Amino acid sequence: MFDSLSDRLADALKDLRGKGRLSDADIDRTCREIRLALLEADVSLPVVRGFIAKVKERAKGAEVSGALNPAQQVVKIVNDELVGILGGETRRITFAKNPPTVIMLAGLQGAGKTTLAGKLGHWLQKQGHTPLLVACDLQRPGAVSQLQIVGERAGVKVFAPHPGTSIGGEGQLGVTAGDPVSVARSGVAEAAAQHHDVVVIDTAGRLGIDQELMKQASDIRDATEPDEVLFVVDAMIGQDAVSTAEAFQDGVGFTGVVLTKLDGDARGGAALSVREVTGRPIMFASSGEKLDDFDVFHPDRMASRILGMGDVLSLIEQAEQHWDTQQAEAAAAKITQGELTLEDFLEQMLMIRKMGPIGNILGMLPGAGQMKDALSQVDDKQLDRVQAIIRGMTPAERDNPKIINASRRLRIANGSGVAVSEVNQLVDRFYDARKMMSQMSGRMGMGGGGRKTN
Ligand code: GDP
Repeated sequence: MFDSLSDRLADALKDLRGKGRLSDADIDRTCREIRLALLEADVSLPVVRGFIAKVKERAKGAEVSGALNPAQQVVKIVNDELVGILGGETRRITFAKNPPTVIMLAGLQGAGKTTLAGKLGHWLQKQGHTPLLVACDLQRPGAVSQLQIVGERAGVKVFAPHPGTSIGGEGQLGVTAGDPVSVARSGVAEAAAQHHDVVVIDTAGRLGIDQELMKQASDIRDATEPDEVLFVVDAMIGQDAVSTAEAFQDGVGFTGVVLTKLDGDARGGAALSVREVTGRPIMFASSGEKLDDFDVFHPDRMASRILGMGDVLSLIEQAEQHWDTQQAEAAAAKITQGELTLEDFLEQMLMIRKMGPIGNILGMLPGAGQMKDALSQVDDKQLDRVQAIIRGMTPAERDNPKIINASRRLRIANGSGVAVSEVNQLVDRFYDARKMMSQMSGRMGMGGGGRKTN
């Protein structure tokens, strides 16, 4: 996510470190480099100009602060201004006083609207809402069934125009397949009748901007009077993100932006210009194809991430969602006693993995930018193999892997699709790690110091 921009900004700010005083020339040089970094990341020119002008003005006028050295002061200014262009305060969904709240999705084909409908539905459900997804993309072949699949995966109901394949039964009567406006209208009526408190309307996109597309989206908007219109934009489309956003702003109007595909390697900076250019806040960010690869967009956390300061708050939130404290404490107690088994290890690993791909989790730590090469080596598939090996063992073997003889090792290897050497390695490393953890916790005074394990 914005990796190359992060690298370039880190380089630009690095030269200031260790300087007791910053001359105007130092600030000009740094600002020139920041400017290049932003332009290279595809942030649009007017946005870059405004940004640099503000940073320069504040950096030159900065009074000497006791707490921060000059370099830190510039970093703080860049951070503040970055939070500013990203929208300042986190913008949350405005829910209607009289449900259902209607959220309409708009954007080009392939922007990720249908995928997002599922993610949003899943997220809303986790927040205690009872969403209904409405399939109004009747243009793209397969879009309706895609939404139904996504809805099923998310455990969220879908209202669709095809008889027999959707919920609602009577709610569909009178819906003409092929008329997205009447599907939208019926979807909202269905939600009201079935007491869904939020409706998410998936609409059709085109490959490019055209009048018909805008007209259809505006007609759906007029028919359903949405509380939120979310413009969904693929962060990887570069400068086109800005022009597309402007066209949708003129043609349909929207209340918020959703950035998708932030997991891509692309420069993504154009998407960062959307807020500044349209004046509409970025409300959500999507960073992968899975249901959970989605979160509220927090401008301050994103700025902090771009500046390589990590996003520990999001990490904590994810941990809170998936962490089972009792289980973790029980495992910690076993570690100090030197009694951790492969079964415990598997449970811990599954808990951590619920938080998302390991690379993403580690990527939220401060300084992750500098460890990028190491992080790219972290492979979830390797963890899948470890899980498969442990699953192939009997409970007794997981408790005491030493009892696994050569023929069982071969069975486990065959059953989990790995080489015998990987099974051996896992067992050896497990004993080494258990010993080390137990010794460390003893040294740190966390417990009984561990008993001798092997
Ligand atoms: P729509 O035409 O706007 O409804 O777009 P879709 O929801 O069908 O998404 C288009 C493609 O982008 C699909 O292959 C999705 O799986 C993929 N996609 C959507 N969101 C993301 C994301 O955040 N990251 C990645 N890598 N792919 C995504």
